[in-house]
Amino acid sequence: MAQYDYLIVGAGLFGAVFAYEATKRGKKCLVIDKRSHIGGNIYTENIEGINVHKYGAHIFHTSDKAIWDYVNQFAEFNNYINSPVASYKDELYNLPFNMNTFSKMWGIKKPSEAKEIIAKQIADLNIGEPANLEEQALKLVGTDVYEKLIKGYTEKQWGRPCSELPSFIIKRLPLRFIYDNNYFNDRYQGIPIGGYTQIAEKMLAGSDVKTDTDYFEFIKENPGIADKTVYTGQIDEFFGYQYGPLEYRSVRFETEVLNEENYQGNAVVNYTHRDIPYTRIIEHKHFEFGKQEKTVISREYSAEWKPGVEPYYPVNNDKNNELYLKYKALGDARKDVIFGGRLGQYKYYDMDKVIAAALECVNEEFN
Ligand code: FAD
Ligand code: UDP
Repeated sequence: MAQYDYLIVGAGLFGAVFAYEATKRGKKCLVIDKRSHIGGNIYTENIEGINVHKYGAHIFHTSDKAIWDYVNQFAEFNNYINSPVASYKDELYNLPFNMNTFSKMWGIKKPSEAKEIIAKQIADLNIGEPANLEEQALKLVGTDVYEKLIKGYTEKQWGRPCSELPSFIIKRLPLRFIYDNNYFNDRYQGIPIGGYTQIAEKMLAGSDVKTDTDYFEFIKENPGIADKTVYTGQIDEFFGYQYGPLEYRSVRFETEVLNEENYQGNAVVNYTHRDIPYTRIIEHKHFEFGKQEKTVISREYSAEWKPGVEPYYPVNNDKNNELYLKYKALGDARKDVIFGGRLGQYKYYDMDKVIAAALECVNEEFN
């Protein structure tokens, strides 16, 4: 008889929600992660009294009240509203694209003036149904905003020309003709007071957890350890890259403690010019309105994924989506394994969507 009902590979949000729900239903779970800590990409670490988002800025936002209530069981959230600014040469703009951005860019005041300028800029481009990110962005905001705030940033972030990227990526950002710098349109938004790691800790409290444990080595030594596996690592790696590797973007974080109270005056500053090698600088204390004497900042450098580095973003273009379907078919045939999360389902999921997907999976498994 197997020692556990479930072996859960990955102590990130998907794995942790599954473990919590399975344990609640009387199942015995072992959760392993190759990293030295739990939480996956939502992991926060306290440095100088500041909760540092070790894997990039994480702002919880959702329009789904059930998901908001669910996550609030595990932490109290503050009233942080994400309002990044974009630095382009010596100019500074509010994000997302809204009347503050347009007013600064064109010296105008009224929505009708902004709409007129954008319409003039795209009149000659003859864009029908946008076929890629470049066409989508131009159609939405015109050439000035595209050239200054989108093109350089996106090409650094994804390492591909905007014309070769799917349009849905830019539709993540709101476009508004009102003066409103809220980066999200969602009804609920905030940062867990005290950081994200507590969420994973509480979710995993009833499970056995082993960090610094890679699945592929572990399973060789413990082949029959569980009846079923929930796998939240890369699906292509699980199947030995037999159809070739899927593409991912990786990020390198350069984190520094500074002997000053307030470095950039905002949690997130994007650097949208191509010549600045990083995409953004995060000043972590501002997520929790910190007043510490020191500050911690992280520069984010985007890079193509290769074996041995962390895969963070699936590159969901047509080529990769087709390849993913081949791996998904192999996954579907494995009745003993559930594939979940950003890497297991090769999907550019936000946290709320990962929780929703994990709960749906729990529903299918237990109902
Ligand atoms: P992960 O957190 O990646 O967990 C998977 C775990 O599996 C990892 O810990 C990994 O080490 C482990 N693993 C993989 N392979 C193996 C193996 N072979 N053996 C053992 N363990 C293995 N979402 C938002 O809602 N708001 C944001 O502001 C936001 N910002 C983000 C910023 C960045 C830079 C990134 C990269 C993501 C951001 N996200 C944001 C998305 C969010 O991080 C994800 O939705 C969520 O963390 C995914 O959870 P997961 O469990 O699917 O994956
Ligand atoms: N983006 C941009 N300029 C910016 C910020 C974002 O062009 O200043 C584009 C870019 O293509 C990015 C996408 O919008 O990949 C989605 O941005 P988001 O902030 O949601 O990305 P994430 O936080 O997931 O990295």
